[in-house]
Amino acid sequence: MSSTFQLYNTLSRKKETFEPINPPHVGMYVCGPTVYGDPHLGHARPAVTFDLLFRYLAYLGYKVRYVRNITDVGHLENDADAGEDKIAKKARLEQLEPMEIAQRYTNSYHNAMQRLNVLPPSIEPHASGHILEQIAMVTEILKRGFAYEVNGSVYFDVEAYNKKHTYGKLSGRVLSDLMANTRDLDGQDEKRNPADFALWKKASPEHIMRWESPWSVGFPGWHLECSAMSTKYLGETFDIHGGGLDLMFPHHECEIAQSVAACGHDAARMWVHNNMVTINAQKMGKSLGNFITLEELFTGAHRLLTQAYSPMTIRFFILQAHYRSTLDFSNEALQAAEKGLQRLLAAQKTLPQLKPSDKSSLDVSRLLAACRAALDDDLNTAMALAAISEWIKNINAVKAGTETLTAADIETLKSDFTLITADILGIKDDSQAADNRQDLSAELINLLLNLRQQAKSGKDFATADKIRNELANLGVTVKDAKDGFEWSVS
Ligand code: ZN
Repeated sequence: MSSTFQLYNTLSRKKETFEPINPPHVGMYVCGPTVYGDPHLGHARPAVTFDLLFRYLAYLGYKVRYVRNITDVGHLENDADAGEDKIAKKARLEQLEPMEIAQRYTNSYHNAMQRLNVLPPSIEPHASGHILEQIAMVTEILKRGFAYEVNGSVYFDVEAYNKKHTYGKLSGRVLSDLMANTRDLDGQDEKRNPADFALWKKASPEHIMRWESPWSVGFPGWHLECSAMSTKYLGETFDIHGGGLDLMFPHHECEIAQSVAACGHDAARMWVHNNMVTINAQKMGKSLGNFITLEELFTGAHRLLTQAYSPMTIRFFILQAHYRSTLDFSNEALQAAEKGLQRLLAAQKTLPQLKPSDKSSLDVSRLLAACRAALDDDLNTAMALAAISEWIKNINAVKAGTETLTAADIETLKSDFTLITADILGIKDDSQAADNRQDLSAELINLLLNLRQQAKSGKDFATADKIRNELANLGVTVKDAKDGFEWSVS
């Protein structure tokens, strides 16, 4: 277990040595998608960032419980608790059930994540499946005097909270400024203070997603689900809360206030935020015409794209930058990432072809050491990829005979290179060629089994058994069938 892993904590505004509350267990909560549309570039970055953190913590020996939610209710169009529910609106436009919308885009999100080689979280709770927990939390916050009820809706009382605690400590916002700067919105007169936010909203007659509660038939406020579900699955105090920087205010600020109001103390020890993506140096937005879904990126079907980019090119591109820097997508930058990825994958293929020498001219332990040092320094993937790039040069030099490695060093290099690139960074070959190679394996198994059939017909049972046993050693189970054979890979 590493005691040298440093992670930047947005709350303390500094890098901290990572020490879990209850080692070897680590509790990590990350805000997941609101499932009302196809996943886009903005979804890829937090997913890859926290996938890397999940993989790296596992590599360091921790048992990570990674909770990433699905928001399927309560996220209104306007962050100030106004407008229609995003999912309900999409359902109305497409004449579907809200849960059909949520399911469709959850599937679409999962599919994109799988293609990006993002591991599934340990638990993926849905907001609509945790209404009781959210009602219980509102009840507790009311009891402790940090909320008030008006006409069946319950609002968080930011001013009352700020008298005992600090509202704004994550984002650095000051309540008096917020109150001065927030304009009164239509229909917001129920709130005592424009900075207050909804914990429970009474449903209007046309609002279709609604549940019974002590206050009204209604629905929970968006911020509430994360506080309720993180507490349920990770306890009142847990190690890491993550998400995109765009969620820091108001969403994460409100989460902190809710947890402190209900439990009397902070829930998450460390807050980790990935920075935003831009497209050709512009913020991504539907109104700007530069809104690119992941599917469009993977197929190239968008007017701003000159070609398709593979999911692995996107992953590699995201990892090339440190997660706390902004990341600008452009065709030039993606094409450069594509070249970098191909160079890395080529090196992976070169490794098994290296010929051993009597002596090593290189110190192979430096690859893992350099990558560990980079990742220990607040997940500096840019530095790690620079170290890998150096070693790609070395691998090619050994192939060319200008550097030498012993057989043992080649084995170490192979295993370290795979550990860093495939297991920790999650980079794999997702090209057509890789798919073709999978088809080729199937064809080769069929070829061998046809030869086995011939051997059996010729009463050469020794050869037939040998083929079956050797395949079994490779994890291929062969079953004799009426008209030939069946096989499966374990
Ligand atoms: Zn959240």
